Amino acid sequence: MSERLLQVFQETYRELRPRAPIPELTIEFFAFANVNNTIRLREGRLLVRLSDLLEGAPEPVLRAIAHILLAKMYRKPIERSHSTRYRRYVSSHEIVQKAHLVRQMRGRKRIDSAQGRAYDLDAIFDQLNARFFHGLLARPQMTWSRDHARNSLGHYDPAHNAIVVSRVFDHPRVPHSALEYIVYHEMLHLKHPVKLRGSRRCVHSREFQEEEKQFPELEQAKRFLRQL
Ligand SMILES: [Zn+2]
Repeated sequence: MSERLLQVFQETYRELRPRAPIPELTIEFFAFANVNNTIRLREGRLLVRLSDLLEGAPEPVLRAIAHILLAKMYRKPIERSHSTRYRRYVSSHEIVQKAHLVRQMRGRKRIDSAQGRAYDLDAIFDQLNARFFHGLLARPQMTWSRDHARNSLGHYDPAHNAIVVSRVFDHPRVPHSALEYIVYHEMLHLKHPVKLRGSRRCVHSREFQEEEKQFPELEQAKRFLRQL
């Protein structure tokens, strides 16, 4: 914890509550996905968490956020000069962009995982690749969808070279073969890029459908998926 930052909070506390003893303070920077700052009182100690996006902010801005947090904590009016200064800083071009970038990165990290609770999509891809494609397909990014959408089993996203499978199927109750079929189908999309026939997009070409029939547990898998 920076001495300077601690001092800023102590001085601000003194301004707001001239006679009350200054409690012990813990201030830390925290990786919130948004520009977010919190203050709590725990057993007489003040715990302050500042967004790491404020790390390196100019002192008047830190003074402003200290004022806002402490005024909120002790139900004092927030001085407009402080709230304006803080708001201006946060909405300044640079920090908005930084927050956006951080949110994107943190957001992406969450959906990037091929490892679900029950099934590992990378492992399923590798097994199917060896079994049906002589290991020749390059593995795209395998991810479980963020939501539990039932309307889409899975899809191949060529723009991001990613196979996304609905998280509904990441469950031990789902037969291995059903999940394999979903991934196999998307792997065929990888192998047979969408062709344009006239103006109509032909998503499941005849070759695609023929190859899909080579999946041994096709009927079983389809039956399971139909009854969902
Ligand atoms: Zn398809």
